[in-house]
Parts: sequence; C-alpha cells; structure tokens
Amino acid sequence: MPFAQTDPDVTLATLEAIFNALPDSVFLIDPDSSGIVYCNRAAWEGLGYTAASDLLDHSVLTLQKDVLGPAQWESIAAEIRRRAPYVFIGSHRHRRGGEVPVEVHTSCLDLRGRAYFLSVARDITRRTRLESELIARDAQLRFALNEASDGLWDWDIASNVVFFSPQLKRMLGYGPEELAPALSSWTDNIHPDDSALVRRVLDDHLAGDRERYDVEYRLRNRNGHFLWVHDRGKISDRDQDGRPVRMVGMVQNISDRKNLEQRLQKLASHDSLTGLLNRREAEIVLDSQISLCQRLKLPLGVCLFDLDNFKQVNDMYGHLCGDRVLAGVAELFGTHVRRSDHLCRWGGEEFMLICVDTTIEQLQQRVETLRELLAAHPWPDLEQLDRVTASFGIATFPEHGGDARELFIAIDEALYRAKAAGRNRVERPMTDRSDPES
Ligand code: GH3
Ligand code: MG
Ligand code: MG
Repeated sequence: MPFAQTDPDVTLATLEAIFNALPDSVFLIDPDSSGIVYCNRAAWEGLGYTAASDLLDHSVLTLQKDVLGPAQWESIAAEIRRRAPYVFIGSHRHRRGGEVPVEVHTSCLDLRGRAYFLSVARDITRRTRLESELIARDAQLRFALNEASDGLWDWDIASNVVFFSPQLKRMLGYGPEELAPALSSWTDNIHPDDSALVRRVLDDHLAGDRERYDVEYRLRNRNGHFLWVHDRGKISDRDQDGRPVRMVGMVQNISDRKNLEQRLQKLASHDSLTGLLNRREAEIVLDSQISLCQRLKLPLGVCLFDLDNFKQVNDMYGHLCGDRVLAGVAELFGTHVRRSDHLCRWGGEEFMLICVDTTIEQLQQRVETLRELLAAHPWPDLEQLDRVTASFGIATFPEHGGDARELFIAIDEALYRAKAAGRNRVERPMTDRSDPES
C-alpha cells in the first residue's frame, strides 16, 4: 500500500486515530466467540459507553439484538466467511436500554495470522425514521386520494403493468384479487365508441400537448354493463431523457350525473308525447344537415306534413284519443324511415322529415309510400273514422332553397297546395332556384 511505504510514521496509533475520527462504528470481532476485540470511538459513544474498554466485555451475542445464541452466530459466521462482505440490517442494544437501528457491513480480516471479522456499522435511525414517515405520508396521501375518488391507478408505462386500487376494482364489481394488473384489463373494457377519444386524450398528454389526462367515458363492469367514469391522471415520473415512465390517476363513477344529464337533455330535445325530436332540436338538425350536405355536395330532402282534419279527431273522440293518434303516427313512420333520417314533431299535428342524400324524385317516392301507409293504417280507437290521412309538402336543398328559411318557405307553400288540392297528397315546389322564371 503506497500510504504505508511512503510514510514510515504511520503507526497503530495513527490508524486508531483515523478509526476514531470515522462517523461509523468499527468493530473487530473474534469469529469463534463473537467477542469484541477492538472498537472505535463512534462505536462506544454511539451505544452510551464511556470508554472503548467497556465494550470489550461484550460480544455480538450481547450487542446485537437479532443474534439469539451461539448456534445462530455460528451459522452467521459461516455465511460471512462464504459471502463477505456481508450486509446485515439489525439493531444494537444501547447501554441505557432501547435499540439503535444499524446497517452492518462485515468482511474478513487476517491480522498476524489470525482471522477476524471487521464490522462497520452505520446508525440508520434517521433513515428508518424518514422511511417510516414517508410510508405513513404515502399511506395518508393514498387514503386522501381514495376518499376523493372511487379508485386509483398507477401505470408503469414500460412494462404496461397497472396497479388498480381495491376501490377501483370494487367500483367495477371485481374482488381485490381479480382483474389482472395489465393495461389491457382497462383498455379492453372501454366502450368501443369512446376508445378513440380516450386514446387521443392519453396520447396528447404523453406527447406533452395536453397538461393532464382528463376524460369522461364509458367503462364496462364485471357484469358487462357500462359505467360512466371521469378519469384523470398525470405523468408522475420520467427517465433521464424526459420520456414518461410512470403515470398515476384517479377514477370517479359519474354514472348518476351522466344519466341525469342524458335524461334532461332528452327532455329538452325530445317531445314527450311522441318521443320524436322537438321543434327546437329539428331546427338545429335542419341547419346542421344543410351544412353537411353543402360540404359533401349532396342533396337534402325535407318534408313537412300535417294531419288532415285533425280537429275532427279531437272533437269526435276527445283530446286523449287525439294524442294516441299523434303517438301512433310517430311510431308508424318511425319504423319506416332510414337510420340517417330525422323525424321530428314540428308542432301540433305537424311533423318534419329530414333525409340526407335524397333527390326530389327519391323524396317524392318515399313520401308517397308513407302517405299510402298512413292512409291504409287501421285505427281501432276511431270507430266511425275509417282512416287518418296527412298532406305533405316536400322540397330539397339546394334546389328549392339555399338555406333553412328559403327551404321552409318552399315546403310550406307546397303543403298549402296539397291541402288546397283536397288533402292526402304530396306536393313539391313548382319551380326550382336554377329556374330563370323563379
Ligand atoms: P287541416 O286538414 O286543414 O290541417 O285541418 P286540421 O283540423 O288538422 O287543422 P287545424 O289547424 O284546424 O287543427 C289542428 C288541430 O290539431 C287543432 C288542435 O286541437 C290539434 N292538436 C294540436 N296539437 C295537439 C296535441 O298535442 N294533441 C291533440 N290531441 N290535438 C292537438
Ligand atoms: Mg296544422
Ligand atoms: Mg291539420
């Protein structure tokens, strides 16, 4: 060792002075008896003794709380010889009672032909206190988060392992041991109509385009039913290159609120008697369908129809019976329109049918079919009145009107003519906008 060769003054006393200046405890141990044959200042001071000699009466057996007898010492000594340096976390007994938590590194040392163990023990009181404080704080935080939500998740992005909290599992109807801790356990259960949205919000957050992941969507529970959830999360750890490696979040079951919202929305947009879209909603749909058809360069067919002599139905059979006829017409036509069509109650006994990608000829044909269907429909409630009919005005965008207002004027005029010409008829505008006469 260059130190010893270059400085002949390095004596045992010098080495002892060095050992005594160390903050960690140093023990030289007799491997056979476990007796302490040397210790530094930090060792005896740390355990409440007044001199090194006080400790020389001790052995590992008397100092180490975790070593219970000679037999155990023997197996530990064998382990040290085999695996030195040997690291051990335990507790030293303090002279005045109590314990000092220590991390001990033990290696083998040959001195003048004799084998010893050299143990360096570090007092880890502060570290263990900080660790337990951290664990307690973590538990408190988790508790607080759990109380503020219906469940937590913790996603290790590289391995795709996801911790789902017991609350989250319970919310979805699973027991604590069920639901594999995999990303697919979650993604497979997102409603197919919502998965693209969820993916986009998540990708945006991972790419740094969105400050947090925050999305509402439907999640399948264990029974196969969908719950509405509000899911919020944030990247919590990144690697050295700034890439996200961990993300944590919390989920709240918002099904009650969503169902209420949907009921209120339906109430606001639908007519309660027929279940069809109401006038307010019809106007919105008409505007949006006109924009859509303008963009896609498609014709939009619109029909307004009005039940014939409906006042008579009310007068003869009562208002309630009239209501049943209105609901019956909506039901009858509802089963004969396409999924892309919109059937609305325009008001009173007037209805509107909006058909995307439909020319005036196609619309005329389809509406004639509806007219015949209604006229042939039996109404057992209305004994003397053998049938209910309606008059229909039809027109198309952009042929007969460049916006909703113009289109409506054209349709209303056609409907007026259908009534005037004897009812139970379909009429269309006599001219179109490209007609130089118009
Ligand atoms: P026309 O062939 O010219 O359309 O004759 P009409 O009797 O149908 O026309 P009018 O406008 O004179 O009467 C419409 C009637 O529709 C009057 C009103 O009592 C009835 N009505 C409007 N809304 C409702 C409703 O929600 N329920 C019931 N039962 N009747 C309604
Ligand atoms: Mg009317
Ligand atoms: Mg009428």
